[in-house]
Amino acid sequence: MTTATPAKTKAYEELTSLLRDAAVLHSMQATLAWDQETMMPPGGAPLRAEQLETLAGMVHTKKTDPRIGELIAACEDDSEVMGDARRSANVREIRRDYELATKLPGSLVGELARASSLGMEAWKDARSKSDFAIFLPWLQKTVDLNRRKAECYGVPSWGAELYDALMDEYEPKMTAARTQEIFRPLREFTVKLVERVKASKAPAGVDEVHTAIPIEKQKEFSRRVLEAFGFDFRCGRLDESAHPFCEGAGPGDVRLTNRYSEKAWLDQLSSASHEGGHGLYEQGLPKAEYFGQPLGDAISLGIHESQSRMWENQIARSRGFWEWAIGVAKDVMGAPVAGMSADQVFRAANVVEPSFIRVEADEVTYNLHIMLRFDLERAMIAGDLKPKDLPGIWNERMKKDLGLTVPDDRRGCLQDVHWSMGAIGYFATYTFGNLYSAQFWEAMARAIPDRDDQIRRGEFGAILAWLREHIHGVGRQYSAGELCERVTGKPLASEPLMRHLEAKVESVYG
Ligand code: ZN
Repeated sequence: MTTATPAKTKAYEELTSLLRDAAVLHSMQATLAWDQETMMPPGGAPLRAEQLETLAGMVHTKKTDPRIGELIAACEDDSEVMGDARRSANVREIRRDYELATKLPGSLVGELARASSLGMEAWKDARSKSDFAIFLPWLQKTVDLNRRKAECYGVPSWGAELYDALMDEYEPKMTAARTQEIFRPLREFTVKLVERVKASKAPAGVDEVHTAIPIEKQKEFSRRVLEAFGFDFRCGRLDESAHPFCEGAGPGDVRLTNRYSEKAWLDQLSSASHEGGHGLYEQGLPKAEYFGQPLGDAISLGIHESQSRMWENQIARSRGFWEWAIGVAKDVMGAPVAGMSADQVFRAANVVEPSFIRVEADEVTYNLHIMLRFDLERAMIAGDLKPKDLPGIWNERMKKDLGLTVPDDRRGCLQDVHWSMGAIGYFATYTFGNLYSAQFWEAMARAIPDRDDQIRRGEFGAILAWLREHIHGVGRQYSAGELCERVTGKPLASEPLMRHLEAKVESVYG
């Protein structure tokens, strides 16, 4: 059966309307996934898996509809569409998504999905028993399947190795070689900075900060901070889950979660600020106008993470922030924090201490955890590292970079969920987030010269307005690399982050 060539003027409209249908279905997946983590009774798990699988199939069918391919081609022939910067960027990105979605045979997609759900169960078991042998066959399978996936995509025209095809899914246009070029000076710098911290005296008065606070008060405190940041609670929520996350279902609905324990009030504020940063980005994307279209979407995981890291680190771990927030903390949480000073909490929020677990790492050592994972997964895809040799190499590297002897694989190579889910090429985006956020932060300082004073007064409106204008509002009009050059005048580099970390360590440790 053939379909008529779409009329040019109508093609763009039909295309964006088909994509909106797919996005509506996809938003149902997002809402159900949020519900699974926050509200669903455990007995609902099997039905939820079926619901999500059904929806995933429907979304995939919609996104790979051959009609979309015809409409893209018609738009590409339409000089009126292609002459408009926003619409032509939209068409370019729609083509990219369509090609990625249609390049993988259904059989491989199915195999990847099965391997990730079974692999995750094996990983949970392996991690709880700290027994790498249980996970090894699944790691091998994940590496093999990812290599097949990369072969289907093909090495991108800007890349040089199969790993680049995998990276492109998470951080479009980035390559392993370029990543290594950015990471190398950061690694050398960080290893030296950690040595310097180890030789310094621990900051004073830190232990007293980690005092017990009732959880309801902690929730109120983070809500007050997020409101001040500009998170819109009429179009968003903050709930509780085992692992904090942000789910942007669609226009008008962005869900944040956090986890709580009585003595971790400072950690929970960090994760609330982090997820809040993701949420502010989601609320700032032009979804009302472009829902389902690339122009309404986040650019990349690295750019998304830059937004969470900025609110978490550059803002909520700064001395100026605490000069304001300590007043809010005392107002909400009362007696337990009454005797604390802004300076004391600032120091407690910025202690640097090498540790085994990535998600618990401080701002300085965090990137060393990422670089290790990037190097090892890249070597596994290239065939230079056999999965069975992973624990040994992992532990060697932890000793070399962080000076730590890994006691067991649970606190070593079995700690992260990513490989069990089949995600290879993902880890580096966490450090890209740190790098982009430091570089954007420096560019923003030139536009808002009294930014530090504003933060000290608890005023974040100018910061958010700058992010909305330069980053949130553009959707996927540019690649992450192009956005970085437009916003900061320079390609992504390691120096701004190194300057930020150096200054931070200086102000905490002297
Ligand atoms: Zn994040």
